[in-house]
Amino acid sequence: MIKINENYLKLNASYLFAEITKRTNEFIAANPDTKIIKLGLGDVTRGLPPACVKAFHMAVDELADDATFRGYGPYTGYEFLRTAIAEKEFQAFGANISADEVFVSDGSKPDTGNIQELFSTDAKVAVSDPVYPVYVDTNVMAGRSGSFKDGKYEGILYLDSTEENNYISDIPNEKVDLIYLCFPNNPTGATVTKEKLAQWVEYAQDSKALILFDAAYVAFIRDDSIPKSIFEIDGAKEVAIEFRSFSKTAGFTGTRCAYTVIPKSCTAYDSEGNKQSVHSLWSRRVTTKSNGVSYPVQRAAEAAFSEEGAGQIRELTSYYLKNASLIRDKISGLGYKVTGGENSPYLWIKTGTDSWEFFDLLLNKAAVVTTPGSGFGLCGEGYIRISAFNSYENVELAMQRITDILKK
Ligand code: PLP
Repeated sequence: MIKINENYLKLNASYLFAEITKRTNEFIAANPDTKIIKLGLGDVTRGLPPACVKAFHMAVDELADDATFRGYGPYTGYEFLRTAIAEKEFQAFGANISADEVFVSDGSKPDTGNIQELFSTDAKVAVSDPVYPVYVDTNVMAGRSGSFKDGKYEGILYLDSTEENNYISDIPNEKVDLIYLCFPNNPTGATVTKEKLAQWVEYAQDSKALILFDAAYVAFIRDDSIPKSIFEIDGAKEVAIEFRSFSKTAGFTGTRCAYTVIPKSCTAYDSEGNKQSVHSLWSRRVTTKSNGVSYPVQRAAEAAFSEEGAGQIRELTSYYLKNASLIRDKISGLGYKVTGGENSPYLWIKTGTDSWEFFDLLLNKAAVVTTPGSGFGLCGEGYIRISAFNSYENVELAMQRITDILKK
């Protein structure tokens, strides 16, 4: 008899986006003539940067010709892309990362979800609350939690990210083994300071823990005092892994390309307490389970680092930041406390009411779709997330409608 992995049965049915879709569809059915504006999902809306498109086309043409055809590529990514990433995204900012410490993949969702496979089932996991749900669910699937009770999985340490700590979780008083940090944060849009990140690195060093640093939204940072990479912090190369993606940076959510940086000095321990190389373990996993990312996609990603591509990406992310700034101005002008939206495409609005109630108000009275904060964790109750991924015109219209219903 084939038995299932019963950890899957512990998963709290994630009804967040399904429920948003259901309520949105009900509204559309009842109001077929109303234009609905979606500021809920974190998906980009604008076309790929022209430099990436050009490189994409050229690479497809290469594949069409026997003389330049390429079959399976290197498991961990083509050298041209790994080198461009190491030089332009890390070395240029003083982080000493080499090309062979970069693993190219088809997404940060799979990478942040799969990385936990390298660690023991009894590893104690800490996440912030609210949280990007992938970190939690993948650890539940792997058996690192008890059951779901009162909005939390037993066995997982949830670190409150609230107004009181500027949405940056405090260092725990107890020892944990695996810590997920995400900055600029989804969902709160909060950013971290170098000092705070250094405290986390110190904690990881003292506890022999590992930090999984998700920097999927790094391209939205405009303030130079905010760290872009955890590897800007001394000592991080022994205790941290960083995840980055072309999804929000260059509009690759459908195209798929990301990378994970694991320094060769990054360490975890075997049951005897001997040091083991996390880089070697992930290398082994990738070569066993993946055949890499398609050649045209990697060429398109490489073009993001050309002078032309970098300029277009800057323009693309600035477009969404302009939306974010408008949302921030309008919503805070209505008297609500707003976090994010300055170095991030997300805005976290303190509504002071039940998240779903506020979601329904905006949907039913303004035809604007947002995301209820409670879907990201207990600390998200009383908040909604607004995403800046839409056209400026739609954001303007949404803000006008929201102002009309909320102005006091
Ligand atoms: N990490 C965070 C924090 C995200 O918000 C997302 C997507 O929304 C991802 C990772 C997924 O990135 P990718 O498209 O590369 O899988």
